[in-house]
Amino acid sequence: MFAVGLTGGIGSGKTTVADLFAARGASIVDTDLIAHRITAPGGLAMPAIAQAFGPDYVAADGSLDRAKMRVLVFSDDDAKRRLEAITHPLIRAETERETRDARGAYVMHVVPLLVESGNWKGRVNRVLVVDCAVATQIERVMRRNGFAREQVEAIIARQASRDARLAAADDVIVNDHVPRDALAAHVDALHQRYLAYAAAAK
Ligand code: ADP
Repeated sequence: MFAVGLTGGIGSGKTTVADLFAARGASIVDTDLIAHRITAPGGLAMPAIAQAFGPDYVAADGSLDRAKMRVLVFSDDDAKRRLEAITHPLIRAETERETRDARGAYVMHVVPLLVESGNWKGRVNRVLVVDCAVATQIERVMRRNGFAREQVEAIIARQASRDARLAAADDVIVNDHVPRDALAAHVDALHQRYLAYAAAAK
């Protein structure tokens, strides 16, 4: 199946753009949503996480205590690796399952760390980057998540640079102070191209 990898820094507008593609019939497979689901109450990753990290990292409802885990993995690379050794294979398996079940004309993988994770580039036919200024990212995430400026800056510092992302892009959607209808028009045009690529790839 023809596959597009959608990526962009935190707050660039990946979810906003993916929703527009979904409304036009693309099958969206979102690794962030999958990561969230496997660590929700009763999630596939929870038994292994409870065993590896102890009950302190499991919230009362049986989900991952995200705030606590975020603090741990931010300062402890070994813990980060142990967590990823549990979650990554499950995310990969769920991604494959959702891709197999996809009924759209093409599949669009939303992968926040596509450029960082290396193996993703070979698994998609095109890389679509949602791009905006770092100042815009900071402003949006402060507003959306209620994070402090320094907190957003620290997350951005751990992600690929804007230039590295653009260098990996086949297509770019600029989403900086762009009105919704202009964004939708850009998505329309790209969606038509992806439909054509998908038809040609059959
Ligand atoms: P990401 O998924 O890349 O983190 P989101 O799609 O969640 O980014 O966008 C971050 C925030 O910015 C959201 O609150 C979203 O509603 C807002 N946003 C995104 N694009 C625009 C835009 N073109 N105009 C106004 N607000 C936007």
